[in-house]
Amino acid sequence: MTAAVIDGKAFAATLRARVGELARAFEEKAGRKAGLAVVLVGEDPASQVYVRSKGKQTLEAGMASFEHKLPADAAEAELLALVDRLNADPGVDGILVQLPLPAHIDEQKVIAAIAPDKDVDGFHVINAGRLAVGQPGYVPCTPLGCLMLLKDRLGDLSGLDAVVIGRSNIVGKPMAQLLLAESCTVTVAHSRTRNLAEVVRRADIVVAAVGRPEMVKADWIKPGATVIDVGINRVAAAEEGKTRLVGDVDYAGAAQVAGAITPVPGGVGPMTIAVLLRNALVAAYRHAGLDLAADAI
Ligand code: NAD
Repeated sequence: MTAAVIDGKAFAATLRARVGELARAFEEKAGRKAGLAVVLVGEDPASQVYVRSKGKQTLEAGMASFEHKLPADAAEAELLALVDRLNADPGVDGILVQLPLPAHIDEQKVIAAIAPDKDVDGFHVINAGRLAVGQPGYVPCTPLGCLMLLKDRLGDLSGLDAVVIGRSNIVGKPMAQLLLAESCTVTVAHSRTRNLAEVVRRADIVVAAVGRPEMVKADWIKPGATVIDVGINRVAAAEEGKTRLVGDVDYAGAAQVAGAITPVPGGVGPMTIAVLLRNALVAAYRHAGLDLAADAI
């Protein structure tokens, strides 16, 4: 193996510690804790795990955590009414509605109901628009975490060729916007892209956000490239009846060619919640009218 391993777990721990310091400073200045509300509808096991760790890490960072659980058959109107109450609650700086929502609820309608200045997931069209035109807003946590890892590794990204595989609203598209804002030459590849291997071979930076286990092969990677693997795929393990997590990149192969690569698990995954806490803290400072230097976090 030649590639440096990008340790997202360690980076996320450092970021959470920094959020914790700034959360204490916020409490002293504002006379209240920064607050993050998380709403879970139904009992999807993966969502329950995420919501539990979000709540735990929010408290560990010295912020207030408000968890709201609605049954799987809750009416859309009930969820919208809850979002309205959270929008109006001055103790709540950030609101996150855990996705996916049950099929009878219109996800877009719920996201649109969140006050854009409490939308710490950055999914509201106002925040997507702010990102597109370069205004301050809230950027989706996973791609912002990927950008932090890239800048930590590479410094100035200006002029680099970046290929983002995947065009979802929560990862691929905002990732492309962020890299463009860093003056990369950005290509967004997707399920209809022709000659994907050739496209990826041009890239100094590869961000894979597809959801297909180990799809990106070693011979797609330009020697020395930086590879960020967003994929989280559960596959059968060698041991009967067991499963393991793999990314969208053939890690063992790509690590022979790349300059640096994120592992799965322990790469991008831990960054998502750390960035969520960061976004919630930024929201708190903004709501209280307190200054937070652009490079503070
Ligand atoms: P998505 O299903 O919404 O989007 C997948 C994208 O991949 C689509 O834009 C599609 O065009 C593209 N695609 C599908 N097949 C392709 C192919 N054969 N070639 C090229 N492109 C193809 O998924 P998403 O929400 O963007 O998530 C992507 C992956 O990232 C998933 O594995 C998900 O679990 C993971 N994820 C991880 C985190 C994290 O915290 N680490 C957060 C979000 C998503």
